[in-house]
Amino acid sequence: MAGHIIFQCPACQTRQVSSPQPPDAAVRCSGCQWTRDEGIADYSEGYLNRCRICGCQDLWRQKDFPPALGLVIVATAATISCVAWAYYRPVLAIGSLMAAALIDMVLYTFMGDMLVCYRCAARHRKSAMDERHPRYDLETAERYRQQELRKRQAGV
Ligand SMILES: [Zn+2]
Ligand SMILES: [Zn+2]
Repeated sequence: MAGHIIFQCPACQTRQVSSPQPPDAAVRCSGCQWTRDEGIADYSEGYLNRCRICGCQDLWRQKDFPPALGLVIVATAATISCVAWAYYRPVLAIGSLMAAALIDMVLYTFMGDMLVCYRCAARHRKSAMDERHPRYDLETAERYRQQELRKRQAGV
C-alpha cells in the first residue's frame, strides 16, 4: 500500500506531496534537494510510528475525509429540501436531508484514517497504522505550539 505524505518541506517551505515506494523509502522534496531517509526507523512492526518528515513520535489520527465534501452534500440536500418545502412536498424535503446524512455516514465509514504530525502538520495518507494512535489531543497540540513559540522567541 503506497502512502501519500502531504507536507511542507523543512528546507524550502513549499507544499509537497510524496509517495515513497516502498513506503519506507526516502522522502524527497521535488522543489529542492531535501531528503530524509530514515524510513526503516519510522516503522515498527510494519506500522508507521513516527512522522516521516521530522521524526516526531506524536501523531494523531484523523479521518481522511475532506470536510468540504461533507459540506457540499449537506448544502445540496438543504437546497433540495427548501425547494421541496416550497412545493409542499414534505416527504421529499425530509427525505433529502436524511439521504444526505446517510451518504455522509457511509462515506465517513469507508474513508480510511490518516496520521497527522503534531509538530510539522505533515499528513500521512494511506499509511499502515495500528490502533494505538490516539485521536487529536488538545493538550499535546498545545505543548507543541508552546515549544514552537519558544523556539521562535529564542531565534529572535
Ligand atoms: Zn524543498
Ligand atoms: Zn512531523
